Amino acid sequence: MRIVVALGGNALLHRGERPDADVQQANIDRVSTAIAALARDHEIVITHGNGPQIGLLAAETSTDPALSAPYPLDLLGAQTEGMIGSLLARALYNALPGRRVAALVTHTLVRADDPAFDRPTKFVGQMYSADLARSLARKHGWSIARDTTGWRRVVASPAPERILETDTIHDLLMDHTLVICAGGGGVPVTADLDTGALTGVEAVVDKDITAALLAEDLKADFLLVLTDVPYVYERYGTPGQRPVLDATPSELRRGHFPAGSMGPKTEAVARFVERTGGLAAIGSLDAAYEIVHGRSGTLVRPDLPVG
Ligand code: ADP
Ligand code: MG
Repeated sequence: MRIVVALGGNALLHRGERPDADVQQANIDRVSTAIAALARDHEIVITHGNGPQIGLLAAETSTDPALSAPYPLDLLGAQTEGMIGSLLARALYNALPGRRVAALVTHTLVRADDPAFDRPTKFVGQMYSADLARSLARKHGWSIARDTTGWRRVVASPAPERILETDTIHDLLMDHTLVICAGGGGVPVTADLDTGALTGVEAVVDKDITAALLAEDLKADFLLVLTDVPYVYERYGTPGQRPVLDATPSELRRGHFPAGSMGPKTEAVARFVERTGGLAAIGSLDAAYEIVHGRSGTLVRPDLPVG
């Protein structure tokens, strides 16, 4: 099978964990062992989140006295694709000796007139008090919004239209290469309507929705979304919480999952299954192999045709 795997950024750097390089390396080594078991029998494309990592770089660049302006988010996104891509590639070389592995910095086309540019929703970086957040917003021109226990920077998250390197990724797969790409949703760019010239934009594309687009365009058989919970749950966080073992896209769409976490994952798998008739699943990172073999995770299969 051809499998697109989407790794959660929070699974690469756990909430509350020190964001040090050696901590990321250790987490990624564990992830790679789980994926290597699948890669022995299947074509694999890996995409990954970058929320904690891009937040760290954004905070550093906005306080560097040597800079006259902080680095823009498209370039910080490219940095995270390079760093996480390299960590994953090294771990996979170790786990799969002799296998070809390529980590690509990829670009995702978004529309300049996407309404998401007028209402930033995606949280990046750390939590601040209301006063500090307001003064940083004035100083750096940020938008800010309230998160659970404080205030954070929010940035635009436009919809992915196309991954510019899709054909290159396809060729690498045909050449028996395990490809790591579209990290953090890919570097967001817009194309000039007249000339086609590309420009980077201040945004972070959703990595789960980008993974669905990538899986569809690559004609993948399976979209595997790996995160830090083993199932999608009904009545999540309540005493009546119950794992969903199996669902169709329309059943998932009735679930109303939160926009900042489970929502994009259920939307991504529902969209992929509806558009392609393939299979998808959401589950825990350590269980990648078991999920594909039907022994763990929430499996999503096509709705039965009506009539
Ligand atoms: P990632 O970095 O993998 O994208 P997210 O934090 O965006 O991680 O999404 C995973 C989180 O979604 C889980 O840690 C969980 O707290 C949250 N979540 C919200 N609703 C649900 C639900 N109904 N079932 C399972 N997890 C849920
Ligand atoms: Mg997420």
